[in-house]
Amino acid sequence: MGSAVFALIVNTVVALLFAATFTTFALSNARFRRVLWLGLAYAIGALTPGSELLVRFTDTPQIFMATSSGSFVLAFYATAVALMKFHRRSVPWLTFGALTLASFTLRWTIWNGQRDDLQYEWLYQLPFAMAMLVCAATLWQVSRRTVLDRILTIVFLIASAHFLIKPLLAHWYGSGSTAKAYAESLYALLSQSATGILLIAIGLLLILMVVRAMLSDAQQESEIDALSQLLNRRGFVRRANGLIANAVRLRSKVALVMFDLDHFKHINDTYGHGVGDGFIEAFSEILRLCSPPGALIARLGGEEFAVMLVSHDVAVARLFGESVRAHLVNLELEQCRDVRITVSAGLAVDHAPIELQDLMRQADAALYDAKSRGRNRLCIARARNTTASAAS
Ligand code: GH3
Ligand code: MG
Ligand code: MG
Repeated sequence: MGSAVFALIVNTVVALLFAATFTTFALSNARFRRVLWLGLAYAIGALTPGSELLVRFTDTPQIFMATSSGSFVLAFYATAVALMKFHRRSVPWLTFGALTLASFTLRWTIWNGQRDDLQYEWLYQLPFAMAMLVCAATLWQVSRRTVLDRILTIVFLIASAHFLIKPLLAHWYGSGSTAKAYAESLYALLSQSATGILLIAIGLLLILMVVRAMLSDAQQESEIDALSQLLNRRGFVRRANGLIANAVRLRSKVALVMFDLDHFKHINDTYGHGVGDGFIEAFSEILRLCSPPGALIARLGGEEFAVMLVSHDVAVARLFGESVRAHLVNLELEQCRDVRITVSAGLAVDHAPIELQDLMRQADAALYDAKSRGRNRLCIARARNTTASAAS
């Protein structure tokens, strides 16, 4: 078996393995079905070395020459589509379609061109260079431009440039005067290897891109409470520390309001857990509606909630807490219109830097005060490590 043939077999298998990897990613996670597009791109890409392999063993190489270059271009534009889909952008089908058509037309125009001719080789490689450039531009436009996105864009650009350098190699080493001679040439070996390495690098970077997105999605999911769709305690603590760090930079205050639904056990015991859940969902919606932009809203557990605000003084934070309380008093659930519930709240406001635990302890003490003073009220923690004062 010639080494060029061996390289073609390896490239076919590698492309199919990437296709299988992306397909497995897509099928194993419903929120990442769009990764199927990357699987499709690599499956189409596998037709290229596969076709070049068949060129060697057939009497009608023309067909496989056509499928070889056609699938290569198509695979690249499928990658550009996959990148758009991955970043949830609308695909410019017309532009990509027109570029693909132009590439096919160019290939058809130079179909009987003179191999080993520099101009022919350049025209042959131009659509591939163009398609890689489109992938680089697409990614640059749609991604968040993280280090990984930047590296991937650079590798797309290198891949684009390497297609334009190939004709020079073909010129120096000779690319064979027939398709069969090409398949056995040293140039074919170099060309296939260089392209193979670049496409493997791109494939691995794309896998990293998908894995990174899946991990970040899983982390976000693990920080969301399923019933209320608010942050859970883990998500709240992580983000609250970030918010406090931001407040230190802004030299601003941080306000924390802790809420606890009143006599909630009684609601559950009397009307059932379903009604209790309904109130938790409705109260979460009230928090979302009343909170100012940038607020962190969390369900810390059970019927306990917390909202953190930055750059708001006591008066504003208190107004917010009171409006939540007032909204809840008037809330009626569809399934039991005659039942009303109330909430107690504890507010602590302090200048950053402050430890989250300290702020929570202050707000909790104020909340305890609100409970002991008869519930359905908001109490304000006076200052660090002092007792709370009633606000209503
Ligand atoms: P207090 O006014 O002192 O806060 O009284 P409470 O009854 O609200 O407090 P307690 O801590 O005794 O009871 C909390 C109740 O919250 C107990 C539990 O049944 C209920 N609870 C916690 N999580 C959920 C939930 O996810 N759904 C429902 N329906 N109830 C929950
Ligand atoms: Mg409680
Ligand atoms: Mg309670």
